[in-house]
Amino acid sequence: MSDTYTLIKNGMVIDGTGSEPTRCDVLVHGPRIVHVGTDAATHLPVDAAHSEIDASGCRVLPGLIDSHCHISFDQPNSNDELFFHRRYGLAALVAGVNAQKVLRAGFTSFFDADCVFDVGVDLRDAIEGGVIEGPRMTTGGNVLINCVGGTATRLLPDEGTRGYARIVHTPAEIVREIHKQIKTGVDWIKVHVSGLPIRPGKEPGEISTWTLDELKLVCDTAHQFGIPVVGHCRNAASTRDAALAGFDMILHATYMDDEALKVVVDRKVPLVPTFTFQANLADYGPAIGSDEGLREVFRAEITESVGTLRAAYDAGVPLLTGSESGFSLTPYGDWHYRELQVFVEDLGMTPLQAINSATEQGARALKREGELGCIKPGYLADLLIFDGEPEKVITQLGDQHRFRHIMKDGKLVDLTSPPPKNWELPGWRVSEYSERVLTRQLVDSMGLAR
Ligand SMILES: [Zn+2]
Repeated sequence: MSDTYTLIKNGMVIDGTGSEPTRCDVLVHGPRIVHVGTDAATHLPVDAAHSEIDASGCRVLPGLIDSHCHISFDQPNSNDELFFHRRYGLAALVAGVNAQKVLRAGFTSFFDADCVFDVGVDLRDAIEGGVIEGPRMTTGGNVLINCVGGTATRLLPDEGTRGYARIVHTPAEIVREIHKQIKTGVDWIKVHVSGLPIRPGKEPGEISTWTLDELKLVCDTAHQFGIPVVGHCRNAASTRDAALAGFDMILHATYMDDEALKVVVDRKVPLVPTFTFQANLADYGPAIGSDEGLREVFRAEITESVGTLRAAYDAGVPLLTGSESGFSLTPYGDWHYRELQVFVEDLGMTPLQAINSATEQGARALKREGELGCIKPGYLADLLIFDGEPEKVITQLGDQHRFRHIMKDGKLVDLTSPPPKNWELPGWRVSEYSERVLTRQLVDSMGLAR
């Protein structure tokens, strides 16, 4: 089966490099692309078993890559739910279904930044081993964090593990945890370099919670084993220090100042701005009852950060698209494309540049540079046959009906049998007594008093 050829004919190829669409055929053999050109058919060996896909009127794109997901979270409404309502075995089973939603959205690869339990490693191995269908993935383990950091403030204990977080304080704890995660099989070590302040200060964004020496220790320890390091950095100092320490990729990198920008540019550290979560909250918050003040804070994070991120991009820093899918604001399968839209509308990229960020550049998060994310001979055959013109209207990529075919590793995904959309699981969601407080005034105002 994997020895057969597939010839994709008559399509307009968007090769992922940022080049304009060109009329080409694509010949696939096993999991790889073997030829791209108008003469691809002539490269079929005589009498070779092969199938053909007529891509007339369609674009042929590389499979898209989401460089910032949380596949094991299952769309929690709150940190309370995420930290206290997940179970290991069930989280892994649910993640296996959610991964199929990502794949059917045209995202044939993703990076799972951090996970509850060891779900990321187990899911990756299950997909690679052929147990279940899913996108190709790389994964971190639990995020390294100290008890000050993170986006959970006092919900974090002083030590131990909670949710996706492993609390470390001393150099010995840092080294031991990295060794343990590498033994487990992670692809990346992730550090929460900045976190929400308990009492907000004057600096925009979060507060830095790690010293430069601690960040260097993380890099030295992980790099010894060839494992890259990624950081969550939502202020200038944390972004600067992560880049100085030798981090291989930075998530968010918002609120950079000139100093942080210079270090990032000097070292060409790939950045994953991850604006989809903020954009969804800012634009669609009213639909889900989000706090007005919170919406303004998140909109400001985009408007105050696009200038420096654009400057980094213009100076040659790779920008990757990550959607932060996995929260109630970013359900799996729905919003992965939206980061490309934000790149076009807020960062001023062309649609083809945004597609490059989501394909050729995204290969960096998958550790497959040079063999993933482009339509070129020798590259992995992750391909989309797409009915539309995403080089003109980037939001078309959010319309799943436009995907005529999705191919991963040279094999077509069965788009006729979608995975279940929702489920009821005992104890999985936070249950509330009520949405509002039952005051006497409320009862009186509704005329319910008796
Ligand atoms: Zn994240």
